[in-house]
Amino acid sequence: MAKGRRFLIAGNWKMNGLKKDGRALAKSVAKSLKKAKGKKQPFDLLVCPPYTLLGSVAKEIKDTGVKLGAQDCHVAEKGAHTGDISPYMLKDVGCQYVIVGHSERRTDHREGDAVVKAKAEAVLEADMIAIVCIGETLVQREAGRAMAVNRRQLKGSLPTGATAKNTVVAYEPVWAIGTGLTASPEQAQEVHAVIRAELVKAVGEDEGNGIRILYGGSMNPKNAKELLGQPDIDGGLIGGAALNADDFAAVAAGCK
Ligand code: PEP
Repeated sequence: MAKGRRFLIAGNWKMNGLKKDGRALAKSVAKSLKKAKGKKQPFDLLVCPPYTLLGSVAKEIKDTGVKLGAQDCHVAEKGAHTGDISPYMLKDVGCQYVIVGHSERRTDHREGDAVVKAKAEAVLEADMIAIVCIGETLVQREAGRAMAVNRRQLKGSLPTGATAKNTVVAYEPVWAIGTGLTASPEQAQEVHAVIRAELVKAVGEDEGNGIRILYGGSMNPKNAKELLGQPDIDGGLIGGAALNADDFAAVAAGCK
């Protein structure tokens, strides 16, 4: 990670947890941050629970320094959109971040780059930070198209007005999500460097070098340190390992 960027370790809880579990997990994450703070930790910790837990987790992490995020949002501020949640509702409950364009949403809900970009812009409009996910499938990687796919998704999904303060990019190779397969540090850095170059092209030198790029895909306590040691890897978007507070803390401990 380069000077001027601060690590972000984000836990994507996905569709997991009832009230009791969520509160307990949030409490343990807050405890781990308190311990790490004694050592002037170089990272921010973020938890992204499902919608149903946002309120109770917000109470649990109040004044602890742990940040709150959501896993998706609608593009509109309000209105006739049954079952959807607006960015302003997320902000109202205490969210500072919203993940958009996760590959599971791109697949399960057929969300394309234009929708992801619109969602990211709605997040910015509501004065929160968008975590924009991109990443290639195994078929695309094996066809030698990984870089082209990530370039295309980034160009199509990056919100207008992206800055280092309001946007984070998460590179998540689809073949590594929840599979136990991880991109090697070299493979991940290669893509992150391409993303960095595209960001600089899109938003200029200062902002492009300031936007944090997270790696996601089976990141765990064993592989975190090496991945986080790469020059353009500024944190992680963690799924499975974020459901255990000790593992999540151990991933964060890999930030140096
Ligand atoms: C994710 O869902 O963003 C993710 C990276 O999951 P996992 O860590 O379980 O691969």
